[in-house]
Amino acid sequence: MSWSDLALNGRILVVDDAMENIRILHAALQDEHEVLFALDGPRALEIARTQHPDLILLDAVMPGMDGYALIKELQTASETADIPVIFVTALSSPEDETRALGAGAADFISKPVNAAVVRARVRTQLTVKRQRDALRALVLTDALTGVANRRAFDERLMAEWRRCGRSGLPVALLLVDVDHFKLYNDFYGHPAGDNTLIQVASALRRAAGRTQDLVARYGGEEFAILLPQLDARGAVGVARRLILELERMAIPHAASPTAPYLTASMGISGMIPGEHTIPADLVQVADARLYQAKADGRNRYRAGAGAD
Ligand code: GH3
Ligand code: MG
Ligand code: MG
Repeated sequence: MSWSDLALNGRILVVDDAMENIRILHAALQDEHEVLFALDGPRALEIARTQHPDLILLDAVMPGMDGYALIKELQTASETADIPVIFVTALSSPEDETRALGAGAADFISKPVNAAVVRARVRTQLTVKRQRDALRALVLTDALTGVANRRAFDERLMAEWRRCGRSGLPVALLLVDVDHFKLYNDFYGHPAGDNTLIQVASALRRAAGRTQDLVARYGGEEFAILLPQLDARGAVGVARRLILELERMAIPHAASPTAPYLTASMGISGMIPGEHTIPADLVQVADARLYQAKADGRNRYRAGAGAD
């Protein structure tokens, strides 16, 4: 996909209390985009939350919840806060325009609308949003392996910590460090090492199969798997699968004192987020156990008393 294709085929939510206005905007946009519509604010909120439109065209003046109240609601929820909003309104004084932009609107179109102008403004906003989404994906992805990077891991850890804390559920963490990887690079060369890290990342993905599991490259030859709603005992299942998966893949490591194939060591922690704990505690405990797994002979996990 090239940058110039970014504006095509968006999902646009049109919000207006007058069906005639919706019809006009629908006619202007339907050739290029999927058009959803809502006749009032509460319905628009529901559609925004469940259908994830790329862009919202919003009538400022509506009975009940007006455009300004709606845009405020959209901004408070993380799943709708990033959706750009174009105000479409009969009010067209500089004050109205300033108020709309001040409320967080991305753009402002005056009624009566001109179809070509609507299409052009919509294309511009879609391009901006998609460039932003693409950049955000890049910023959160490890370039070598394609899994989440450290930044993405830190963000998700904070979010899951809060979410699981609210519902009294545990969060588990598996820290994975490839064994004798310096020797691997020395023996097979750095490019082969890179290729092997890609394979290790794919093994981690297979070992942690639930949609809420996050596989991340923590740094160098160290990976992390965040396992929301799982305790240390549950994470042990993932660790066992990973050990078996590496055994099955049998990536030759002739220089390893541990095994003739590439292995990894793992530290596991699991906690129910509470008042006296912070996410860093989860990482610290897993890291200490990873160190223990290395000391105990590598190619194994350590999960603490009761879970090993
Ligand atoms: P241990 O079993 O104790 O973990 O030994 P180790 O050699 O794996 O650990 P150490 O921390 O001494 O070395 C890590 C090595 O990982 C050294 C570094 O060059 C290599 N490494 C880190 N990132 C990359 C990378 O992106 N590509 C390659 N090819 N190697 C990397
Ligand atoms: Mg290391
Ligand atoms: Mg290592």
